[in-house]
Amino acid sequence: MARTEADRCPGVLAVHQAVDGGLARVRVPGGRLTCSQLDVLRLAAADLGDGRLELTSRGNVQLRALGPDGPRELSDRLYAAGLLPSLPHERVRNILASPLSGLDGQSAYDVLPVATALDQALCDRPALAALPGRFLFALDDGRGDLADVRADVAVRALDDRTALLILGARAVRVQWTDVPDLMLAAAEAFLAVRDQEWRIAEVPDGAQLILERLGLEAEELPPVESTRLTAGVHGAALVVTVPLGSLTQEQAAALSQVGGEVRVTPWRSVVVPTDRTGLEDVRPDDAGLVDVGLVIAPDSVWEGVTACAGQPGCAKALADVRGDAARLLPQLTRRGRRVHLSGCERRCGKPAGDFVDVLAGPDGYLVNGERL
Ligand code: SF4
Repeated sequence: MARTEADRCPGVLAVHQAVDGGLARVRVPGGRLTCSQLDVLRLAAADLGDGRLELTSRGNVQLRALGPDGPRELSDRLYAAGLLPSLPHERVRNILASPLSGLDGQSAYDVLPVATALDQALCDRPALAALPGRFLFALDDGRGDLADVRADVAVRALDDRTALLILGARAVRVQWTDVPDLMLAAAEAFLAVRDQEWRIAEVPDGAQLILERLGLEAEELPPVESTRLTAGVHGAALVVTVPLGSLTQEQAAALSQVGGEVRVTPWRSVVVPTDRTGLEDVRPDDAGLVDVGLVIAPDSVWEGVTACAGQPGCAKALADVRGDAARLLPQLTRRGRRVHLSGCERRCGKPAGDFVDVLAGPDGYLVNGERL
């Protein structure tokens, strides 16, 4: 794909101006937030935005409806909370990691420490601040949960010593000790071979060109069954689905009170490690999460449901898709599939792979192209 301009992916310092005000996206490498950082974000949303925290398909957090002075105050608060460790790199710290890694006994290797090391090494390389804001790193702990996220540079754990370094459909076996350096070397090689492209997949033969620059001989990527994260208890973790990925003040406050840390997933949910919090010896519903509208049951109507911003936040939207979601969901035949509601044909934030497509039109909603 030929690009003619730099990407305009929003950040905290480069805020997108939406109809409802400034939209700031806070990168959260590995999805990992301490509960005090979550509370900083919550208070910032209350004081500077519309009060909500949106969870994105890359495990980041967005604040909307910022006023003219909002971005400066927000960046000051985030800097003080350790959420802006490098101002030049703030938009390029796009690092996904398997959210249950190290918590449920299903990891071939715990990738969360690798995500932290990768983030620090990324911020230490000034040249990588030039990466597009859409460039994505992913660290899969071997369970295949990130197989569908379309990362530019990915790693999948094989065991506690080795992993597959993945570019496109090609993979090469590497040692964990080399992983951060190799992932960053691949990103540097992308900057060297690209023209204006934002993603490796947009560069003709991009993956092969990069592998050659790295001196690596790759083979065809072996398939992995992609797994799906559902709400509920998984080993030493509680997975909490956030309806439409939009945390209210009450919900964010309830989560920030569990203590320890939370992990934002790319699927509009949050993982609470129960072995490091006050939840260890209590039933999840005792923590007050359900009382504020969060979901801890895997069979909820909200499981796997996403929506774009819609009205009133987006000028292109033909409907308030978020407001309409609760009314529409019971009418849909899902058969376990994901559902995405869009206010126009751009379908922002749609999930990868198969999903039920709910699209607003001038005369009402279409579901997979047919009138509801
Ligand atoms: S899909 Fe359309 S209506 Fe929804 S956020 Fe994107 S541009 Fe706006």
